[in-house]
Amino acid sequence: MQFRDLKKQYDVLKDDIDREIDEVIASSGFISGKKVKELEEKLAEYVGVKHCITCANGTDALTLALKAWGIGEGDAVFVPDFTFFSSGECPAAEGATVIFVDVCEDTFNVDPDKLEQAITRVKSEGKYTPKVVVAVDLFGLPADYTKIKPLCEKYGLLLLEDGAQGFGGEVNGKKACSFGDISTTSFFPAKPLGCYGDGGAVFTDNDEWAAMIRSLAVHGKSGEDKYNNIRLGLNSRLDTIQAGILLPKLKAFKDHEVDDVNKVARLYNSQLDGTSLKLPVPKDGFLSSWAQYTVILPENVDRTALQSKLKENGIPSMVYYIKPMHLQGAFQNTDSAKSDCPVTERLSKTVLSLPMHPYLDDKTVKFICDTLKANL
Ligand SMILES: *Cc1c(COP(=O)(O)O)cnc(C)c1O
Repeated sequence: MQFRDLKKQYDVLKDDIDREIDEVIASSGFISGKKVKELEEKLAEYVGVKHCITCANGTDALTLALKAWGIGEGDAVFVPDFTFFSSGECPAAEGATVIFVDVCEDTFNVDPDKLEQAITRVKSEGKYTPKVVVAVDLFGLPADYTKIKPLCEKYGLLLLEDGAQGFGGEVNGKKACSFGDISTTSFFPAKPLGCYGDGGAVFTDNDEWAAMIRSLAVHGKSGEDKYNNIRLGLNSRLDTIQAGILLPKLKAFKDHEVDDVNKVARLYNSQLDGTSLKLPVPKDGFLSSWAQYTVILPENVDRTALQSKLKENGIPSMVYYIKPMHLQGAFQNTDSAKSDCPVTERLSKTVLSLPMHPYLDDKTVKFICDTLKANL
């Protein structure tokens, strides 16, 4: 059994994916071109924003957004403590100070009340200037933008949606990657919409930022002139082969994968109902794209032993994330390490992610749940 079965997906989409790859090789156009443009248009249309700029990975996508805004030394950037490293790595690498904020236990996403407390605290201390909120759509569930957006407006902060795991999710019918002033995603193979290598994208309605990001992604070029460099940038493009692979994968994603993965989540939740596990149930109006299916174990359960039992039965499981961001080595001896995030600390000891993907069949889900229940 695979944790995320990319082979099964390939078996289903093989003819279309192979044809796309063959076309790119036959054309010898490996960088940019028509397929990249077509993908960007389709992604922008699906998400419901004006501009999509593809790039090399989800980490670069965050960096491109922060560079377009000129974020750097002296700026405070608010980031949830429970996330993948990039969410905090990118603003810190630009020279900003990351303020880690605790999350809600029932969504794994940033706690809006604690976010407001952190903003007012940093403002009153006066050491750093609050500039950006990085809201992460963890495990596929969009952050609570109904509360985060008004907070950003109230305090004059830019909202950066890290939708690396959130692509395909929704809040009240509005798609993930449309909530930020700039939003980003990743096409790393195991993300909700993955390619066959690294890839990413930036989304925005703002013309000026979009033009700036297109320039930054190609060495700070001026307009279409690649050899007239007016600012320092990156080399961050999506390979044409990856764009070709993503075209049929986006179609399957829209046509049935988001629905299918939600069916799997509902089956998991019904099978595990009544156990001592705390289950991930999206609140009314929220749709998850289930990058992960993550349960919370009671504190007395030995997680490592449980994972071994699952493994003996051929069931892979993962711990996302075992270390809160503010405890990561890279942030020690900085003001970022001073964050107070007891919920994240508890979650890092009690979460467990189970196999999850749109091609997981009912029989397998039931087997996983029965095995889990027998070992709790
Ligand atoms: C995966 C991920 C990223 C980074 O994406 P890459 O394509 O791997 O660079 C950023 N943020 C979050 C929350 C992620 O899960």
